[in-house]
Amino acid sequence: MGVRAVIMGPPGAGKGTQAKLLQERRGVPHISTGDILRDARRAGTVLGCEAERYMAKGLLVPDDVVIGIVADRLGGQNHNQGFLLDGFPRTVPQAEALDRILDEGGEQLDAVVSISVPEDELVRRLAGRRVCRQCSTMFHLEVDPAARLARCDRCGGDLYQREDDREETVRARFDVYARDTAPVLRYYGDAGLLHEISGVGDREAIFQHVTASLP
Ligand code: AMP
Repeated sequence: MGVRAVIMGPPGAGKGTQAKLLQERRGVPHISTGDILRDARRAGTVLGCEAERYMAKGLLVPDDVVIGIVADRLGGQNHNQGFLLDGFPRTVPQAEALDRILDEGGEQLDAVVSISVPEDELVRRLAGRRVCRQCSTMFHLEVDPAARLARCDRCGGDLYQREDDREETVRARFDVYARDTAPVLRYYGDAGLLHEISGVGDREAIFQHVTASLP
């Protein structure tokens, strides 16, 4: 039976990187609401066009929209391989909705891992972050550059800078995290599910801390 978990942390903390490692090495499906919304935007769907209005400004997409996405993805099925949610929940109403969705299938969360990183380090990471348009693999201009400029090492796709990683939008995303998402940490702390780890240092060492937090 796989683990059912949430990974949290401010923008640039390394949630996506760690979630992808857990998927590759443990087969735990990685569900990123940000990736789902970016795919919808690229496909030009109604959902993608609506979400774009918020994403471009670093604001949260309305709760009912993202809750609908997660209910579609998680509702009405067994999660024998488990899942790792990345980027959801970001508000207390989303966390409550997740409890209800899981409860309907007789399931509950096993753990919530929160990665913390000092803000000046986050700004540096986001400014240099480049993402593959095709497979969402992440690179960093200084710390983890791709072998060929602007090409993904894994699939050869185009690397680009997320619009919301630009400096002016990053500030708004930090504010949103402090105001709307920090209360979710308290929600899970009260539920006895929260494991807080440092996201500074080597990705492998951080991965050890992530896995040590999971049952
Ligand atoms: P991420 O890739 O997780 O950093 O998400 C990128 C953007 O997608 C966020 O800044 C929001 O605009 C939107 N988004 C992703 N997940 C959520 C969520 N759970 N609730 C609201 N907006 C979200």
